[in-house]
Amino acid sequence: MERETLLTMLSIFLCGLALHLFAIWPGRVRGQTASRRLERLHWLALWWPTAPALTVAAWLCGWALSQPDPVPNHVGHLVFMATVPFTLLGGRALVRAAWSLWRSPRNYGIATMGLLRPQIVIAPELAQTLDERALRAAVAHERTHVRHRDPLRIWLAQFVTDLQWPWFPARRRFTDWLATLELARDDEARAAGIEGEDLAAAVLGSVRFQLEGGGVAATLIGQPSALPARIARLLRPLPENPPERELPYLVVAGGLGLVWSAATLFGLFCGERLVGSLLAL
Ligand SMILES: [Zn+2]
Repeated sequence: MERETLLTMLSIFLCGLALHLFAIWPGRVRGQTASRRLERLHWLALWWPTAPALTVAAWLCGWALSQPDPVPNHVGHLVFMATVPFTLLGGRALVRAAWSLWRSPRNYGIATMGLLRPQIVIAPELAQTLDERALRAAVAHERTHVRHRDPLRIWLAQFVTDLQWPWFPARRRFTDWLATLELARDDEARAAGIEGEDLAAAVLGSVRFQLEGGGVAATLIGQPSALPARIARLLRPLPENPPERELPYLVVAGGLGLVWSAATLFGLFCGERLVGSLLAL
Protein backbone atom coordinates (compact mmCIF):
# COMPACT_ATOMS: atom_id res chain seq x y z
CA MET A 1 0.00 0.00 0.00
CA GLU A 2 1.24 3.52 -0.78
CA ARG A 3 2.84 5.00 2.33
CA GLU A 4 1.11 8.40 2.12
CA THR A 5 -2.31 6.78 1.68
CA LEU A 6 -1.79 4.65 4.76
CA LEU A 7 -0.50 7.67 6.69
CA THR A 8 -3.58 9.70 5.70
CA MET A 9 -6.00 6.96 6.79
CA LEU A 10 -4.23 6.41 10.10
CA SER A 11 -4.10 10.17 10.71
CA ILE A 12 -7.84 10.58 10.08
CA PHE A 13 -8.62 7.75 12.47
CA LEU A 14 -6.17 8.42 15.33
CA CYS A 15 -6.16 12.24 15.18
CA GLY A 16 -9.95 12.26 14.91
CA LEU A 17 -10.18 9.96 17.91
CA ALA A 18 -7.82 12.15 19.97
CA LEU A 19 -9.68 15.33 18.99
CA HIS A 20 -13.05 13.93 19.97
CA LEU A 21 -11.75 12.48 23.23
CA PHE A 22 -10.49 15.91 24.28
CA ALA A 23 -13.48 17.77 22.81
CA ILE A 24 -15.45 16.91 25.95
CA TRP A 25 -12.93 18.83 28.10
CA PRO A 26 -15.01 21.54 29.85
CA GLY A 27 -12.43 24.29 29.19
CA ARG A 28 -13.94 26.74 31.66
CA VAL A 29 -11.98 29.96 32.10
CA ARG A 30 -12.57 31.18 35.64
CA GLY A 31 -11.79 34.33 37.55
CA GLN A 32 -12.25 38.03 36.92
CA THR A 33 -9.62 39.58 34.76
CA ALA A 34 -9.25 42.28 32.13
CA SER A 35 -11.45 41.70 29.09
CA ARG A 36 -8.55 41.50 26.64
CA ARG A 37 -6.75 38.86 28.68
CA LEU A 38 -10.03 36.98 29.18
CA GLU A 39 -10.58 36.93 25.41
CA ARG A 40 -7.08 35.52 24.85
CA LEU A 41 -7.62 32.81 27.47
CA HIS A 42 -10.91 31.78 25.83
CA TRP A 43 -9.17 31.76 22.43
CA LEU A 44 -6.50 29.38 23.74
CA ALA A 45 -9.16 27.19 25.40
CA LEU A 46 -10.90 26.97 22.03
CA TRP A 47 -7.78 25.50 20.38
CA TRP A 48 -6.37 23.44 23.23
CA PRO A 49 -8.18 20.14 22.30
CA THR A 50 -6.31 20.14 18.96
CA ALA A 51 -2.91 19.80 20.70
CA PRO A 52 -3.26 16.03 21.47
CA ALA A 53 -4.44 15.36 17.89
CA LEU A 54 -1.40 17.20 16.50
CA THR A 55 0.85 15.20 18.86
CA VAL A 56 -0.59 11.99 17.41
CA ALA A 57 -0.03 13.39 13.90
CA ALA A 58 3.63 14.12 14.74
CA TRP A 59 4.05 10.58 16.06
CA LEU A 60 2.54 9.13 12.86
CA CYS A 61 4.79 11.30 10.68
CA GLY A 62 7.78 9.95 12.62
CA TRP A 63 6.57 6.40 12.00
CA ALA A 64 6.07 7.11 8.27
CA LEU A 65 9.65 8.40 7.98
CA SER A 66 10.90 5.00 9.11
CA GLN A 67 8.85 3.12 6.53
CA PRO A 68 9.60 2.12 2.93
CA ASP A 69 7.30 3.27 0.13
CA PRO A 70 5.15 1.38 -0.65
CA VAL A 71 4.64 -0.14 2.79
CA PRO A 72 4.02 -3.89 3.09
CA ASN A 73 1.08 -3.33 5.49
CA HIS A 74 -2.60 -2.86 4.68
CA VAL A 75 -5.41 -1.29 6.67
CA GLY A 76 -7.76 -3.79 8.32
CA HIS A 77 -11.54 -3.58 7.95
CA LEU A 78 -12.01 -2.25 11.47
CA VAL A 79 -9.60 0.67 11.02
CA PHE A 80 -11.02 1.40 7.58
CA MET A 81 -14.56 1.56 8.96
CA ALA A 82 -13.40 3.75 11.85
CA THR A 83 -12.06 6.41 9.46
CA VAL A 84 -15.49 6.86 7.83
CA PRO A 85 -17.20 8.93 10.58
CA PHE A 86 -14.18 11.20 11.03
CA THR A 87 -13.94 11.71 7.25
CA LEU A 88 -17.62 12.68 7.16
CA LEU A 89 -17.19 15.08 10.08
CA GLY A 90 -14.19 16.71 8.36
CA GLY A 91 -16.18 17.02 5.13
CA ARG A 92 -19.10 18.56 6.99
CA ALA A 93 -16.78 21.13 8.64
CA LEU A 94 -15.25 22.04 5.26
CA VAL A 95 -18.67 22.44 3.61
CA ARG A 96 -19.90 24.65 6.45
CA ALA A 97 -16.73 26.76 6.26
CA ALA A 98 -17.19 27.23 2.50
CA TRP A 99 -20.93 27.92 2.91
CA SER A 100 -20.34 30.60 5.54
CA LEU A 101 -18.12 32.46 3.06
CA TRP A 102 -20.73 32.30 0.35
CA ARG A 103 -23.75 33.38 2.41
CA SER A 104 -25.10 36.85 1.78
CA PRO A 105 -24.20 39.59 4.24
CA ARG A 106 -27.33 41.65 3.55
CA ASN A 107 -29.00 41.10 6.92
CA TYR A 108 -26.42 42.90 9.02
CA GLY A 109 -26.94 46.42 10.35
CA ILE A 110 -23.25 47.00 10.85
CA ALA A 111 -20.47 44.44 10.73
CA THR A 112 -16.87 43.78 9.75
CA MET A 113 -16.48 41.35 6.86
CA GLY A 114 -13.66 39.90 4.81
CA LEU A 115 -11.15 37.30 5.90
CA LEU A 116 -7.98 38.81 4.44
CA ARG A 117 -8.99 42.45 3.91
CA PRO A 118 -11.68 43.11 6.53
CA GLN A 119 -14.00 46.03 5.85
CA ILE A 120 -16.84 47.66 7.74
CA VAL A 121 -20.28 47.51 6.11
CA ILE A 122 -23.24 49.57 7.32
CA ALA A 123 -26.85 49.24 6.23
CA PRO A 124 -28.06 52.68 5.01
CA GLU A 125 -31.28 52.27 7.02
CA LEU A 126 -29.27 51.81 10.21
CA ALA A 127 -27.06 54.81 9.47
CA GLN A 128 -30.21 56.94 9.19
CA THR A 129 -31.67 55.53 12.41
CA LEU A 130 -28.70 56.07 14.74
CA ASP A 131 -27.70 59.50 15.97
CA GLU A 132 -24.22 60.78 15.20
CA ARG A 133 -22.65 59.74 18.51
CA ALA A 134 -24.09 56.21 18.39
CA LEU A 135 -22.97 55.78 14.78
CA ARG A 136 -19.45 56.92 15.67
CA ALA A 137 -19.42 54.45 18.58
CA ALA A 138 -20.57 51.61 16.33
CA VAL A 139 -17.86 52.36 13.76
CA ALA A 140 -15.21 52.58 16.51
CA HIS A 141 -16.26 49.15 17.78
CA GLU A 142 -16.07 47.66 14.28
CA ARG A 143 -12.65 49.26 13.71
CA THR A 144 -11.33 47.22 16.62
CA HIS A 145 -12.62 44.09 14.84
CA VAL A 146 -10.74 45.19 11.71
CA ARG A 147 -7.57 45.80 13.71
CA HIS A 148 -7.61 42.26 15.14
CA ARG A 149 -8.80 40.55 11.90
CA ASP A 150 -11.72 39.10 13.81
CA PRO A 151 -13.71 37.74 10.80
CA LEU A 152 -10.78 35.42 10.01
CA ARG A 153 -10.46 34.39 13.66
CA ILE A 154 -14.23 33.72 13.87
CA TRP A 155 -14.10 31.63 10.69
CA LEU A 156 -11.18 29.52 12.00
CA ALA A 157 -12.82 29.13 15.41
CA GLN A 158 -16.08 28.01 13.78
CA PHE A 159 -14.15 25.45 11.70
CA VAL A 160 -12.30 23.90 14.65
CA THR A 161 -15.58 23.80 16.60
CA ASP A 162 -17.31 22.05 13.70
CA LEU A 163 -14.53 19.43 13.65
CA GLN A 164 -15.58 18.57 17.22
CA TRP A 165 -19.29 18.29 16.42
CA PRO A 166 -21.56 17.23 18.13
CA TRP A 167 -19.89 17.75 21.51
CA PHE A 168 -21.59 20.45 23.57
CA PRO A 169 -18.45 21.62 25.45
CA ALA A 170 -16.82 22.51 22.12
CA ARG A 171 -19.85 24.57 21.12
CA ARG A 172 -19.86 26.29 24.51
CA ARG A 173 -16.16 27.16 24.27
CA PHE A 174 -16.94 28.85 20.93
CA THR A 175 -19.91 30.91 22.22
CA ASP A 176 -18.01 31.84 25.41
CA TRP A 177 -15.15 33.14 23.28
CA LEU A 178 -17.52 35.12 21.03
CA ALA A 179 -19.09 36.76 24.08
CA THR A 180 -15.72 37.76 25.58
CA LEU A 181 -14.55 38.94 22.14
CA GLU A 182 -17.31 41.55 22.10
CA LEU A 183 -16.51 42.69 25.66
CA ALA A 184 -12.85 43.10 24.75
CA ARG A 185 -13.72 45.13 21.62
CA ASP A 186 -16.19 47.28 23.59
CA ASP A 187 -13.51 48.07 26.17
CA GLU A 188 -10.97 48.84 23.47
CA ALA A 189 -13.36 51.29 21.79
CA ARG A 190 -14.20 52.93 25.13
CA ALA A 191 -10.53 53.21 26.07
CA ALA A 192 -10.10 55.16 22.81
CA GLY A 193 -12.69 57.73 23.95
CA ILE A 194 -16.09 56.25 23.03
CA GLU A 195 -18.84 56.61 25.67
CA GLY A 196 -20.41 53.37 26.90
CA GLU A 197 -23.92 54.89 26.62
CA ASP A 198 -23.38 55.68 22.93
CA LEU A 199 -22.15 52.17 22.21
CA ALA A 200 -25.11 50.68 24.10
CA ALA A 201 -27.48 52.84 22.02
CA ALA A 202 -25.79 51.67 18.81
CA VAL A 203 -26.04 47.99 19.82
CA LEU A 204 -29.73 48.27 20.70
CA GLY A 205 -30.44 50.30 17.57
CA SER A 206 -28.94 47.64 15.32
CA VAL A 207 -30.53 44.58 16.95
CA ARG A 208 -33.42 44.29 14.53
CA PHE A 209 -31.13 44.30 11.50
CA GLN A 210 -29.20 41.25 12.59
CA LEU A 211 -31.88 38.83 13.66
CA GLU A 212 -31.56 36.86 10.41
CA GLY A 213 -27.79 37.23 9.96
CA GLY A 214 -25.46 34.64 8.45
CA GLY A 215 -22.01 34.24 6.95
CA VAL A 216 -18.70 35.23 8.49
CA ALA A 217 -18.76 38.62 10.17
CA ALA A 218 -17.70 40.35 13.34
CA THR A 219 -20.90 42.16 14.16
CA LEU A 220 -21.79 44.93 16.54
CA ILE A 221 -24.36 42.79 18.32
CA GLY A 222 -22.34 39.62 18.82
CA GLN A 223 -24.03 36.85 20.79
CA PRO A 224 -27.72 37.74 21.31
CA SER A 225 -27.83 35.70 24.54
CA ALA A 226 -25.04 37.84 26.01
CA LEU A 227 -26.70 41.17 25.15
CA PRO A 228 -28.43 42.04 28.49
CA ALA A 229 -25.23 41.61 30.52
CA ARG A 230 -23.22 43.45 27.85
CA ILE A 231 -25.57 46.46 27.76
CA ALA A 232 -25.53 46.63 31.57
CA ARG A 233 -21.73 46.54 31.45
CA LEU A 234 -21.61 49.33 28.87
CA LEU A 235 -23.72 51.55 31.12
CA ARG A 236 -21.27 51.15 34.01
CA PRO A 237 -17.95 53.02 34.12
CA LEU A 238 -15.18 51.46 32.05
CA PRO A 239 -13.56 48.74 34.23
CA GLU A 240 -10.02 49.34 35.34
CA ASN A 241 -7.68 47.54 32.98
CA PRO A 242 -4.39 47.51 34.84
CA PRO A 243 -1.43 46.53 32.71
CA GLU A 244 -1.18 42.75 32.87
CA ARG A 245 1.65 40.59 31.77
CA GLU A 246 1.08 39.08 28.33
CA LEU A 247 0.19 35.42 28.10
CA PRO A 248 3.40 33.37 27.76
CA TYR A 249 2.84 32.51 24.10
CA LEU A 250 6.51 31.81 23.47
CA VAL A 251 6.67 29.38 26.41
CA VAL A 252 3.52 27.59 25.21
CA ALA A 253 4.80 27.44 21.60
CA GLY A 254 8.21 26.22 22.77
CA GLY A 255 6.64 23.55 24.99
CA LEU A 256 4.40 22.32 22.18
CA GLY A 257 7.36 22.28 19.78
CA LEU A 258 9.32 20.10 22.20
CA VAL A 259 6.37 17.72 22.71
CA TRP A 260 5.80 17.39 18.94
CA SER A 261 9.52 16.84 18.28
CA ALA A 262 9.61 14.14 20.96
CA ALA A 263 6.48 12.53 19.46
CA THR A 264 8.10 12.49 16.00
CA LEU A 265 11.23 10.84 17.38
CA PHE A 266 9.11 8.35 19.33
CA GLY A 267 7.25 7.46 16.14
CA LEU A 268 10.49 7.17 14.19
CA PHE A 269 12.10 4.69 16.59
CA CYS A 270 9.18 3.02 18.39
CA GLY A 271 6.19 3.45 16.06
CA GLU A 272 6.45 0.18 14.18
CA ARG A 273 5.15 -2.13 16.90
CA LEU A 274 2.16 0.08 17.83
CA VAL A 275 1.12 0.73 14.21
CA GLY A 276 1.63 -2.96 13.38
CA SER A 277 -0.75 -3.97 16.19
CA LEU A 278 -3.28 -1.41 14.99
CA LEU A 279 -3.12 -2.59 11.39
CA ALA A 280 -3.65 -6.16 12.51
CA LEU A 281 -7.15 -5.25 13.76
ZN1 LIG B 1 -18.53 43.32 17.67
